[in-house]
Amino acid sequence: MHMIRSGKFADKKVLIIDKDPKQSNDRTWCFWKKEAHIFEGVVYRKWNELFFHGKDFSETLKIEPYHYNMVRGIDFYNYCLGVIRQHKNFHIWKDEVSHVFSDSKATGVVVNGKAILCDYVFNSILFKKPELKKSNYWLLQHFKGWVIKTKEPKFEDDKATLMDFRVSQQHGTAFCYVLPLSANKALVEYTLFTKTLLDQQEYSNGLKEYIAHFLGIHDYEVEEEEFGVIPMTNFKFPVGKHRLVHIGTAGGQTKGSSGYTFNFIQKHSAAIVERLSKNRSPLIKKSIDRFGFYDSVLLHILYHDQLPGKEIFTDLFKFNSAPAVLKFLDNETSLTEEWKIISTLPTMPFMKAAVSRMV
Ligand SMILES: Cc1cc2nc3c(=O)[nH]c(=O)nc-3n(C[C@H](O)[C@H](O)[C@H](O)COP(=O)(O)OP(=O)(O)OC[C@H]3O[C@@H](n4cnc5c(N)ncnc54)[C@H](O)[C@@H]3O)c2cc1C
Repeated sequence: MHMIRSGKFADKKVLIIDKDPKQSNDRTWCFWKKEAHIFEGVVYRKWNELFFHGKDFSETLKIEPYHYNMVRGIDFYNYCLGVIRQHKNFHIWKDEVSHVFSDSKATGVVVNGKAILCDYVFNSILFKKPELKKSNYWLLQHFKGWVIKTKEPKFEDDKATLMDFRVSQQHGTAFCYVLPLSANKALVEYTLFTKTLLDQQEYSNGLKEYIAHFLGIHDYEVEEEEFGVIPMTNFKFPVGKHRLVHIGTAGGQTKGSSGYTFNFIQKHSAAIVERLSKNRSPLIKKSIDRFGFYDSVLLHILYHDQLPGKEIFTDLFKFNSAPAVLKFLDNETSLTEEWKIISTLPTMPFMKAAVSRMV
């Protein structure tokens, strides 16, 4: 989409290979933005206020100048495929890629045992879990969500719930979020940051309990269900080599400490297109990354159960303005801004974790 929007690549043949035709609403993306963005047309809902329920702290957070955007997977796929199909230089294949390669001699992908050569490969396939070093953490953000419909109006549709930690923390860091679609419809998600997945029934039980006890809803229909797993890791995903560029989660665009990815992918893709249009290599090497260090510190604390996630996120939102936290989670704060935020977190566990990460 960034390539098409730039209008500079109309003479290039682009082949998109995906094993999935992208015809189902398999995920819902949320992300915050200050300004209109390239997927503005498919934003399904937008909120300027977010509830947060933490440890001894419940507040409606005013997030302006940000807006919390919700994009439904199916709307995103239909929109992108629609735009792509209007461009004759783009071709879509439904097929399975077994391998991608690039060296000084050739670049390409392997499909059905046949190599297709090209100038560049932009790869978003994580073929296997990477081999971790001793210093790497690999937590899972896993969640089940239901779109529920009630007979009576039960939701304030001008406010979403970002994180509600009132749910049991028996498995580790766990919270629910609620994205109201109307007064009697909402997407409710039960989310955990832990080392292993639960049984499917446990997610359903978590959702049922939350809906009954905290939303006070007993009579509802489940219209849709989604399930997802996002890696939360400080593993440095390779950016690529030669003319192979890794993108998306496979290219390290998932923020290790939060799992948010959508906005990082957009920034990364825009930067790639900008470089290509200036005839520069689209491989963006990572410089010293202090946000990666902060993510590592937080992952260290969560991985070793040194502080409950519930307390960390409570302190973040209790002692800082919501826009400042969102800017920090977007990796866009200045050193002064982030030190102000970090100083509101429990000193000892963070100091210890930071020292251990540096060592
Ligand atoms: C249910 C769910 C909800 C999420 N919600 C949010 C959110 O609210 N906010 C946020 O910021 N992030 C969210 N994420 C994380 C992240 O934004 C998404 O995972 C996002 O889709 C990642 O984009 P991607 O391009 O890396 O991977 P994908 O979107 O998964 O794209 C990879 C593509 O590769 C295809 N593929 C895989 N293997 C092969 C193969 N061998 N051959 C051919 N094709 C193949 C797949 O079919 C897929 O279309 C969510 C993730 C999930 C799973």
